[in-house]
Amino acid sequence: REIDLVKLLENIVLKMDINAKNKQQRLSFKTHEQSVIGLIDQDKMEQVIINIISNAIKYTPENGTIEVFLEKEDDQGIIRIIDNGIGIPQKDIPRLFERFYRVDKARSREMGGTGLGLSIAHQIIKAHHGDINVKSEEGEGTEVIIKLPLKGQYV
Ligand code: ATP
Ligand code: MG
Repeated sequence: REIDLVKLLENIVLKMDINAKNKQQRLSFKTHEQSVIGLIDQDKMEQVIINIISNAIKYTPENGTIEVFLEKEDDQGIIRIIDNGIGIPQKDIPRLFERFYRVDKARSREMGGTGLGLSIAHQIIKAHHGDINVKSEEGEGTEVIIKLPLKGQYV
């Protein structure tokens, strides 16, 4: 399916703004592109983005910010979800995409969740021949980077 990532992200951010507002957080989406068309399973990709923005909201304190960016680079669409929340210790980053993996049991129990969100996101992105990476600094924030091949690459 040919899906416009600009529209997809706009709609999701609009929908999730209420969740951010409930935590006094600012959630924004920015892109310079008119449209970024990918061959994408819309429902699955929506699930991925919602998961990651939910994490950003969940693991960022009140008054924090969550920014979503979309760029086009060569034949790839690049989505970045950046928060200024609690961050993730370096040692945990390599294991984030494992099923049921959660950072630091104490803070995880407090927050609720199963530890499946990122592993499902990873599977879905792989099925789209894309890539997902996490950069984070404890106490500073987290950046999730998703790269997706655009229309024409795999057909
Ligand atoms: P679920 O998504 O199944 O409800 P979860 O959010 O704990 O549970 P994942 O989404 O897979 O599971 O995330 C794994 C772990 O990575 C989380 O437990 C959390 O500690 C950490 N994490 C994920 N995103 C962020 C983020 N934006 N900031 C800080 N920590 C994060
Ligand atoms: Mg999650």
